[in-house]
Amino acid sequence: ALFSDRINSAGINLHMSCMREPFLAALEAWSNNEWQAGAVINGVTQLDTSSRPVNCPAQPQELVGQVHDADRNLTELAIAAAHAGFANWHKTPIEHRAVALEKLADLLEQHSDELIALCVREAGKTLQDSIDEVREAVDFCRYYAQQGRALFAKPQLMPGPTGESNTLSLEGRGVFACISPWNFPLAIFLGQISAALVAGNTVVAKPAEQTSLIAHRTVALMLEAGFPNEVIQLVPGPGAEVGQTLSEDERIAGVCFTGSTATAKRINLALANRAGAIVPLIAETGGQNAMIVDSTALPEQVAKDAVQSAFASAGQRCSALRVLYVQDDIAERVIELLQGAMAELRVGLPASYASDLGPVIDSAAQQKLLAHIEHISEHGKLLYQTPLPSKQSGYFVPPSLIEIDGIKQLTEEQFGPILHLVRYKASQLEQVIADINSTGFGLTLGIHSRNEGLAQRIAKQVRVGNVYINRNQIGAMVGVQPFGGQGLSGTGPKAGGPHYLQRFVTERTVTNNL
Ligand code: GLU
Repeated sequence: ALFSDRINSAGINLHMSCMREPFLAALEAWSNNEWQAGAVINGVTQLDTSSRPVNCPAQPQELVGQVHDADRNLTELAIAAAHAGFANWHKTPIEHRAVALEKLADLLEQHSDELIALCVREAGKTLQDSIDEVREAVDFCRYYAQQGRALFAKPQLMPGPTGESNTLSLEGRGVFACISPWNFPLAIFLGQISAALVAGNTVVAKPAEQTSLIAHRTVALMLEAGFPNEVIQLVPGPGAEVGQTLSEDERIAGVCFTGSTATAKRINLALANRAGAIVPLIAETGGQNAMIVDSTALPEQVAKDAVQSAFASAGQRCSALRVLYVQDDIAERVIELLQGAMAELRVGLPASYASDLGPVIDSAAQQKLLAHIEHISEHGKLLYQTPLPSKQSGYFVPPSLIEIDGIKQLTEEQFGPILHLVRYKASQLEQVIADINSTGFGLTLGIHSRNEGLAQRIAKQVRVGNVYINRNQIGAMVGVQPFGGQGLSGTGPKAGGPHYLQRFVTERTVTNNL
């Protein structure tokens, strides 16, 4: 149905002190907490392997918890457990599976203070980002529960000759490996798992190493919500060992992956080379996202939306804007406004209400981004850099605006707060479109123009999964802006969209000559 009665989760309005103050007080209770994580196999957390400390990206001297990583052996045990669990789970009525997801959504809301604290402290996300993260996870659960009911409640009756009945039903495939990233450690982690489970699969989940604590806490809530122990197995640990084991094991019936394009290709290769069935890979990967601004655009709105798209979440979204193409007639004005807006940005501790953006995820990411700023500034022109807080030890990177000649100068995605700007002449628009397409990525595109015909033409010509006209280009909402790219950016189907669950199932037609 076009209009559904499902309402997305409400969140907390930080601008209203009557909401903010009690929220900050509740969060305070978690400010020194230390969490513990390990593999979860058949409902039991495994703490026998050696542990590693997890530190806060904003204050690396601060300990957030300890993780006991899974190894090859534990990963195989997890696969065996999920494999055994499939027999019952895929026969469980959809209503039961959907209700468990809805119960989980309620539990996430009830535990939102703790989950937000984890997002802030383990992933270095700002308060607003962390609130949005929990909301999105809740929305995924409720949305997929609703979609699952619509798709799986009863087989679809197909037309056929008299005396014969034909039905088409959708069924779980088996064990899904869900491999998720650190930039949405709750929302994407759970988005993948909830889709796989409601479709009748069991799951072995491998969270990003950087965000295993929040993954572990979430799995505990899943068990509390009534998911049977055998349907969700958790294996935190390094990709080279845990991820590799998952992609080589022939009991895995499908992989859902969000992360880099290179890793998606490695998984695809491993799946192709292993023994056993041909199975699907659902991959959501990177981008080299552009925004095209023509001379009819409103410069004030462009500056606001570009800053939001490039620097929110410290640029650590695959949807984030990387290359801003501005028609030369208004380029000076746009640059001036961008500099002004960037001067207003507050980089700081993510737990502080005053911070617009926090650190990047770890030291390796920080070093890579800083090296890129230095390198690309030599070839282009550094137009502005937002100052960092003095006296900080965290993995901060200054939001940077750098003028370059074109998107082709960028050899890879830079996953951080770096915005490249390119001036173009009206006569070069076709070339701009061709250059953007030539990257091979196809995730998001922003367009700012008051020429509706032109905006629509650009929207059709640039091959991306999500186009945003006259607004920012991040923060796709579940059930509103189904999200995901094409080409080097992913395989589809779109997360939070009406076709997502269909890739997690196998179809069966039964013809009965009555
Ligand atoms: N869905 C997110 C957005 O629209 C991005 C997801 C990602 O970074 O993987 O901003």
